[in-house]
Amino acid sequence: MSGIAIITEACIDTKDRACVDVCPVQCIYEFNAADGVLFSEDEAGSGVIENTHRPAADHIAVFADSLLYVNTEECTSCTACYQPDVCPVGAIYPEERVPDGSAGASYNADDPNQGHDHRFFVELSRSVFAD
Ligand code: SF4
Ligand code: SF4
Repeated sequence: MSGIAIITEACIDTKDRACVDVCPVQCIYEFNAADGVLFSEDEAGSGVIENTHRPAADHIAVFADSLLYVNTEECTSCTACYQPDVCPVGAIYPEERVPDGSAGASYNADDPNQGHDHRFFVELSRSVFAD
């Protein structure tokens, strides 16, 4: 399916959860290191857990709880989270537009990491969920 959302590098340590509140299917997850689970909330910060998943140990170890993760199996490609007024640091791209760092790559206007190859985050989004 095209249009699946991928969260990239700029979310690291920004993680303001603005995308969580626009996702209609609660498929954007945060890692709870204490409990060792990935969880999504109905509303960011509400404490009302919608879904949980088990993380893959090797993959969650890379960035742990410093950014959020879209479950690509659950994302409906609705486009809401990667509209330009949602993420303050332009971290979210549709999968087929994740820039590869080449000269012709197109970046979100607010992305502070223009020029970087973000494709690692496509793989990470798919591998970080163990179930
Ligand atoms: S809106 Fe952007 S910075 Fe905020 S949590 Fe989502 S991806 Fe991260
Ligand atoms: S594209 Fe839609 S369904 Fe997918 S993560 Fe973004 S808001 Fe959620």
